[in-house]
Amino acid sequence: MQSRLPILVFAFVMAAIPFVPGMPPFWIVLLDNIGLSALVAMGLVLLTGVGGLTSFGQAAFVGFGAYTTALLTTAYGLSPWLTLPLSLVVSGLLAVLLGLVTVRLSGHYLPLGTLAWGLGLFYLFSKLEVLGRNDGISAIPPLSIGSFRMLSPGSIYFAIWVAVILSALLTMNLLDSRTGRAIRALRRGHVAAEAFGVHTPRAKLLVFIHAAVLAGLSGWLYAHLQRAVNPTPFGAQAGIEYLFIAVVGGAGYVWGGVLGAAIVVVLKEVLQSYLPLILPGSGQVETIVFGIMLVALLQLAPGGVWPWLMSFLPERSGGRKPDTSLKLEQRPRASGEASILLQVEKARKQFGGVVAVNNVSFDVQAREIVALIGPNGAGKSTTFNLITGVLSATSGSISVLGRKVDRAPPQEIVKLGISRTFQHVKLVPDMTVLENVAIGAHLRGHSGPVAAMLRLDRADEAKLLAEAARQIERVGLTDQMHQLAGSLSLGQQRIVEIARALCVDPLLLLLDEPAAGLRHMEKQQLAKLLRDLRDGGMSVLLVEHDMGFVMNLADRIVVLDFGTKIAEGTPATIKTNPEVIKAYLGVAA
Ligand code: ADP
Ligand code: MG
Repeated sequence: MQSRLPILVFAFVMAAIPFVPGMPPFWIVLLDNIGLSALVAMGLVLLTGVGGLTSFGQAAFVGFGAYTTALLTTAYGLSPWLTLPLSLVVSGLLAVLLGLVTVRLSGHYLPLGTLAWGLGLFYLFSKLEVLGRNDGISAIPPLSIGSFRMLSPGSIYFAIWVAVILSALLTMNLLDSRTGRAIRALRRGHVAAEAFGVHTPRAKLLVFIHAAVLAGLSGWLYAHLQRAVNPTPFGAQAGIEYLFIAVVGGAGYVWGGVLGAAIVVVLKEVLQSYLPLILPGSGQVETIVFGIMLVALLQLAPGGVWPWLMSFLPERSGGRKPDTSLKLEQRPRASGEASILLQVEKARKQFGGVVAVNNVSFDVQAREIVALIGPNGAGKSTTFNLITGVLSATSGSISVLGRKVDRAPPQEIVKLGISRTFQHVKLVPDMTVLENVAIGAHLRGHSGPVAAMLRLDRADEAKLLAEAARQIERVGLTDQMHQLAGSLSLGQQRIVEIARALCVDPLLLLLDEPAAGLRHMEKQQLAKLLRDLRDGGMSVLLVEHDMGFVMNLADRIVVLDFGTKIAEGTPATIKTNPEVIKAYLGVAA
């Protein structure tokens, strides 16, 4: 959680600027423009920098915000304060429509898609009679409060910067929440996030809407600053420039959007005013010089200027330890006699001609540790993916507590109390261990994005973080709680994944090669933890190559070879099974 003091200081400085004696009015105009661009760039930070969805089309949303208020205040005489929510709603609704189509695109198709609607909407603005075609709409009324009319750049300045600072606060609040963690996992960890109940398409649509509403707000302010709108500033070129601003400032950081806007607006202004003095009569030179300077800037600070500047500040000491006395509700557990928790019946998975899992059947009982072993490529991880809904079986069926879960998506499987780790670690490297682990408790929290922005989620959030901290403590990583997950050793990252899986409060824990990369002592600690979990009522299904580890730990072993189950039994019987020795264990020691 960040301190809010720097923002207060910033707000105070911005509020004081217009009152500085001798402040050139022109600077205020520049600051207005910076604020307007910053709003759009801030949306792009969430969309592109954090969410990984590149959009060249944000200028269209600015246009929708601007035209909505322009039309409604001039043709229908509505008050600008009434058109403010309408401008935001129109931009937001458009984002829902475009987002539903666009966010399903992947790779290069997504940015191309946004470019396409950026161009399309620009032509819509310039062709619609009601929007004044290329001439646009003029004589837009100014914003006013009582008899105070914001006619000058110096008076609307306050409205613009209140909007920027409030938007920055709300956006930062959003990122620092349950929903925020889901958003931050979109770019590099969506498979893992889905395994803990995050609806990736919903999270993508949410950032789309958030970015569009911020752009719409910028458009609404722009219309009342200029008091006239025409299609030019809402075209694809502006869309590209907004993206540029976010990237230059630091696309992963809310304040990067503001800083990027300042850099680009000021640089363009300086070049336009001074370059003709140095190179008289050279029309387009400033565009070229502008491009070169931005490329140079990105060479210097590839992640953007904001994180580059921040790297000079002394490192902040880690966050506070959550109050672990707070408790989340626990899943009811069947007590008493053994029950079949997981039943895999003739599960089969084919990838083209490869039969990765070939009619495999086995079960896991309550309070049992089952190991799934076999050579590389035997189909162990694929079996995990079938159980957890990452892949759906070609045939056969899987039941949890007697309920068939064939074709259920990962988000539904985890609700039944099955959680997992991944053979190839899937953590969000630029999130702390605590935040990564808290994703595991996603389904046990209930606060949505609006509550998060308004900070009404704090009680809910404190419980989620407490649960995460408790599980981190349980796996022995308390000292690393506030470090970035990406800075841990691979072995530790596997343990972080176990803590995350434990946050589900699972009935069954699926661990894919949890001991790989661990030292001897760490393996012993892990074995003890897993035994404790079993004795506490949990079941574990694990894939592991370290035979010493497996033989000492497992109650039962299932052996796969080329996708087929070749043996099943207690460690003692598996150790001496001739088929298993031939296929996997090698000559018996
Ligand atoms: P294990 O975890 O036992 O080492 P896997 O389950 O990862 O084995 O793989 C089993 C087989 O399925 C291998 O031959 C692998 O190449 C193949 N396979 C796994 N995932 C895919 C995929 N997504 N597409 C095609 N083939 C796959
Ligand atoms: Mg595997």
